[in-house]
Amino acid sequence: MEEIIESKRTSWPVMESFYTIQGEGHYSGRAAYFIRTGGCDVGCVWCDVKESWEAGDHPDTSLETLLKGVNDTATDFVVITGGEPAMYPIETLVSALQEQGIEVAIETSGCYPLDAKVDWYCFSPKKFKAPVEEAYEKANELKVVIFNKHDFKWAEEHAAKANADCLLYLQPEWSKEAQMLPLIIDYVKENPKWKISLQTHKYMNIP
Ligand code: SF4
Repeated sequence: MEEIIESKRTSWPVMESFYTIQGEGHYSGRAAYFIRTGGCDVGCVWCDVKESWEAGDHPDTSLETLLKGVNDTATDFVVITGGEPAMYPIETLVSALQEQGIEVAIETSGCYPLDAKVDWYCFSPKKFKAPVEEAYEKANELKVVIFNKHDFKWAEEHAAKANADCLLYLQPEWSKEAQMLPLIIDYVKENPKWKISLQTHKYMNIP
């Protein structure tokens, strides 16, 4: 795949980019500029951004354009999400942002090796495609979406492989939140190494 071996990439398919508040995970509540790449082959049945899946549906966007978008805001934090952003070499984008003093996080399913040194690696494994081993080493945060009660065991299997410093979060799948949140609350009380992540941006009605 051309995208994988091309190391000095300077444009990427981007579905959208916007300045908002990070709603979930460790940085929940922090102002963040989101860059959502297009293209994902993981195929989660409950995916809430299915329109991101086809890379060709999204315009190739230059590094210059992306930096301008970031610099038009007051942000000090960029989240690169998707889609699956690790499908592409993003080192040039990450380095250019960091050179401007901006912290860079990635949200990834961990299914592809990542060529860049990000400041925060949020690893959200999915049942539909296996992660690569490096995801467990790089993860600063393991965020497991709980869709049904069997997912707690699945979450523990991933936690057992994650590095010792990795923070652990359980997040109810949005459409199952009413059923799953009470189970997650009980589970976290019994297993306090985990914390709860909620999609607070959906409560705030922001992107
Ligand atoms: Fe959707 Fe993310 Fe799953 Fe891809 S990895 S299908 S973008 S939820």
